[in-house]
Amino acid sequence: MPVDRSTIWPYDERGEPRAFYYARTAHPAGAAAEEELGRREGGDALLYASGMGAATNVLLALARPGWKVALAEGCYYGTSKLLGLLADWGISYVEYDQTGPPPPAEIVWVEAPANPVLTVPDWAALRGHPGLVVCDATIATPVYLQALDEGADVVVHSATKFLTGSHDALLGATVTRDPEKSARLREFRTNAGIVAAPDAAAALLRGLETLDERMARHTESAAELVRRLEEHPAVSKVRYPGFSGVISFDVDDARVVETSTKLILNATSLGGARSTMESRSRWEGDRIPGGLLRLSVGLEDVDELWADLTQAMGRTAHDLNI
Ligand code: PLP
Repeated sequence: MPVDRSTIWPYDERGEPRAFYYARTAHPAGAAAEEELGRREGGDALLYASGMGAATNVLLALARPGWKVALAEGCYYGTSKLLGLLADWGISYVEYDQTGPPPPAEIVWVEAPANPVLTVPDWAALRGHPGLVVCDATIATPVYLQALDEGADVVVHSATKFLTGSHDALLGATVTRDPEKSARLREFRTNAGIVAAPDAAAALLRGLETLDERMARHTESAAELVRRLEEHPAVSKVRYPGFSGVISFDVDDARVVETSTKLILNATSLGGARSTMESRSRWEGDRIPGGLLRLSVGLEDVDELWADLTQAMGRTAHDLNI
């Protein structure tokens, strides 16, 4: 289907706006992709300019000055940075181990699984919590988690990752079941202008068509690489939640390994058909282990990926002249 990139649509013959009249409010590709994602998640989906746009909108629309957010420790670094910046707006945060019960807070923000430490939330403990439960399900995707069924009030996605799946669209999403929250999120999104581009929304529609098959293959290859990494003498620790395509593992010199791969791109981000790997301490400092490599397993042949990893782990700083 051709993508309608219009920003305006004429009013009807009575001079009244139709379903689409100005693209910041809604546009056809966005509405179609929201419908499909909402169907997959069992809720009302809204799209945003990026995953962080979605997170920002959740906090603008649903948090209040004086509120505290209990944030899963070891979760996506950008979320903790955003919450740190919102201190000026009277929002504070505390990190906690999401495999156990959360501390008192107005909002509990979990990640399923946490990027890059790959822990999963304790849903039973969350169900008893009085606060608003937000779950970033970027890595699980609706294929492996129905977070609203588990008890989340709001699901957040960076659709930039597996949902679109090709490293060529920047996109975020929220999904809720409560009409009041959906209306408030929509109102803030439109007025703050944190909206998705039509082409990115169209990429989501295409991505959802193949999501199940892609996720099955990401998982199969990642599980096989985990088995092999666990036996490799250069690897001291492997983290993997048992589903999806992201692994993190520790080596002595992450910089040498990440710069020695050929098939696996030494690049940030995750969830694409092409595998990517990076040392996360470059961004996160000592928040995570210095030798931690985050590998997003793509759709390439698993033996070729393993050959690339083993040759990279056999290199030394001396070989590379660094
Ligand atoms: N949430 C998770 C788990 C992520 O990994 C990322 C990006 O890496 C984001 C949110 C932010 O998404 P975006 O880069 O689309 O803003």
